[in-house]
Amino acid sequence: MKPLLEVRNVTKRFGGLIAVNDVSFDVRKGEILSVIGPNGAGKSTLFKLISSFLKTSNGLVLFRGEIISNLAPHTVARRGVVRTFQETTIFKSMTVRENIIVSHHLQSKASLLGFFLGSRKARADEKRFGESADRIIGLLGLENIANELASNLPQGHLRVLGMAIGLATDPAIILLDEPFAGLNHDETMRLVTLVQRLRDEREVTVLLVEHDIPAVMKISNRIVVLNFGQKIAEGTPQEIQNNPGVIEAYLGS
Ligand code: ADP
Ligand code: MG
Repeated sequence: MKPLLEVRNVTKRFGGLIAVNDVSFDVRKGEILSVIGPNGAGKSTLFKLISSFLKTSNGLVLFRGEIISNLAPHTVARRGVVRTFQETTIFKSMTVRENIIVSHHLQSKASLLGFFLGSRKARADEKRFGESADRIIGLLGLENIANELASNLPQGHLRVLGMAIGLATDPAIILLDEPFAGLNHDETMRLVTLVQRLRDEREVTVLLVEHDIPAVMKISNRIVVLNFGQKIAEGTPQEIQNNPGVIEAYLGS
């Protein structure tokens, strides 16, 4: 089967620094693929290249066989490659449910205008978006806080809301950059379960950057390891755990 996403010889230079150096790998539909590596290895830069928030210096990113590198970020998002967990996209003065509904509107081009003009289509959208928001709320177990203002939420719930907002855009691939950072063990385990459910129940493909290695080992179908911008290994969690180069560069340190 053709890969859903292809990263081909991607390089990113910042002046004299090569943050991502000739990296290639495929992402298959329905898998959780994690990118790990020491601080400064180029993981976040790689995600920004895939979501087109940064332009590549060299190489290509393809989604469903079409080049998406260096398109406008919102174009890439609209095609279904969505970077989430940027808390700036959460409106603190709105409730959880309202945030998810707004995300639906932002996704659907003209609907925000229609919403203000009160068009018939907008009223139909409103019903559809409300139903979809309630499905996402159910999937993520947010029923109890659906009508809570975002400003009142603890960190763990904000993370889940970030994920809900990303899901409202109906992504094919979500890119999660350190979603478990700053969460306690229970919150992490809950979010791990949620990410697995997204894969299993919604067939969302997940690209994950995460420092919590036990969580990565538990959740991932495959892992790519970066060190100093280069890919040094790729394989199943078990293969990665037993790879001497990885242990030296990262796991053993
Ligand atoms: P990681 O996420 O693996 O910790 P990053 O992708 O954030 O690593 O950073 C990789 C390298 O690129 C680091 O040396 C970092 O300082 C550098 N870097 C990242 N973003 C920029 C930028 N916008 N301008 C210059 N250097 C950057
Ligand atoms: Mg990073």
